[in-house]
Amino acid sequence: MSIVACPKCNRKISSKAVICNYCGCQLGDVTEHDLEVFRARKLRDRIYRLNMTSYAVITLFIAAFCWFWWESRGFAVMPSPGPFVLMGLAALAYVVVRVLIFRSRQLRKSMRQSKLP
Ligand SMILES: [Zn+2]
Repeated sequence: MSIVACPKCNRKISSKAVICNYCGCQLGDVTEHDLEVFRARKLRDRIYRLNMTSYAVITLFIAAFCWFWWESRGFAVMPSPGPFVLMGLAALAYVVVRVLIFRSRQLRKSMRQSKLP
C-alpha cells in the first residue's frame, strides 16, 4: 500500500482506496457498501462542521452581548444599533445552523434505518 494523489482533487489517498475520501471520485470497482460508507463519513463530517459553526455563532452572540453591555455602560444608556444588529444576525445564523444540523441528523437516521434487514 502506498500513498497516491487522487486524479480528480489531487489530494493524498491510499493506493488501495476505491473512492477518494475527499471528493468521492471512484477509482475502481465500487460496491454499494463502499458508497454507503463514503456517504456516511461525509455526513458525519458535515454534522461535525455544523456543530463547530454553531459554537462559533454562540461565541459571536456572546461577543455582541458584551459589546451591548460595554456601549450601554452597564445598561444605563441606549447603545448604537451595532450590537443589536450583530446579536440579531448571530441569532438568525444559529437558527439556520440548528435547522441544517437537524436535517443532517434526520438524513443520518434514515440512512441507518435503510441498512437494517
Ligand atoms: Zn479526490
